[in-house]
Amino acid sequence: MKLINSISFLFAALLILVPNSIIAVLPGTWPPLNAPPPANANYTKLVNTTKLRNAPVNKVNATCPTTDQYCYWTCSTCTRNDTDIIRCPNKLDWGLTLDDGPTSFTTSVLDYLDTQNIKVTFFVIGSNVYTNPDILLRAYKAGHQIGVHTWSHNQLTTQTTEVVIAELMYTRDAIKAAINATPKYMRPPYGDYDDRIRDISTQLGMKPTIWDLDTNDWMSAEDPTFNLNWIAANFTQWVADPTLTATGHISLEHDLYNQTAAQIPIVVPILKKANYTIKPVSQCINDPYPYVESVVTPTAVATPTTRASAPTPTTDTSQIRGSPTQHAVTSTTPTSGIIFFPDVNGCFGKAIN
Ligand SMILES: [Zn+2]
Repeated sequence: MKLINSISFLFAALLILVPNSIIAVLPGTWPPLNAPPPANANYTKLVNTTKLRNAPVNKVNATCPTTDQYCYWTCSTCTRNDTDIIRCPNKLDWGLTLDDGPTSFTTSVLDYLDTQNIKVTFFVIGSNVYTNPDILLRAYKAGHQIGVHTWSHNQLTTQTTEVVIAELMYTRDAIKAAINATPKYMRPPYGDYDDRIRDISTQLGMKPTIWDLDTNDWMSAEDPTFNLNWIAANFTQWVADPTLTATGHISLEHDLYNQTAAQIPIVVPILKKANYTIKPVSQCINDPYPYVESVVTPTAVATPTTRASAPTPTTDTSQIRGSPTQHAVTSTTPTSGIIFFPDVNGCFGKAIN
């Protein structure tokens, strides 16, 4: 017993002495998981900070500014056409995006997408890449697009420039370590970005990618009254909406939770039945190179001749959360109110009063 106690003590001591950052699931040395990483001088020097637009570092839960000087999406859904990817430009193209993985639930999504020969975009959290590099590699090898979704999934506008750079670069390098390709696309958690974040991302060679259609599926993890049928019901309404036919779209879902990942086999048939072609975001904007390296992604396959039957989701619009027809449009009219982020995992933690 004494020997066992001694071994246990030794093991516990080792766990204390060896920091999390060097117990490498992923090759390399990485910051602690799920926390904003420390500034890294080697990363910071990649950005000319004197050329960044001078948007202030926001306080969490701060009041929205009275004027939207820095195109702050959280408060105004403001976007910049010269830098931001907002929707697929071509009719009947659909950029299906899944955020916050890779997780164990990503695997079932990949299994299903394989059966349909469909490629999508995954915006991944660096801390999850560290934990699940093999799942990310599988997604990449299958031809899905991989993009940066920060190391810790905090609100970027609340972080200093040096930490924002570290959030993006540690994630970019974790992805590179996992798949041997360097992503050129980023998505800000919660859509929380402004001109400072745009400029940092652009200088680092990453295209800010938002969405124009949001399922709000993350609410299913927090709100017991959330009905999972609302997710498919959103898609059913979107594909039938005559005001949404002029362009393609980019929708937001999550593979962070089992119940939201499980919606993918339900919503994909709705899009296929409506003759949409599901593509990675990079392909819908005609970018064959979503990585720094000259890795050409497989071209999206046209809708198969044999279609799966669409499910019969509810068409009762009273069951659809939020505003299914909401567009992320350029706006100079900010909404006054409180910026509210209810949790660190949801992607769209915003409620403006
Ligand atoms: Zn997210």
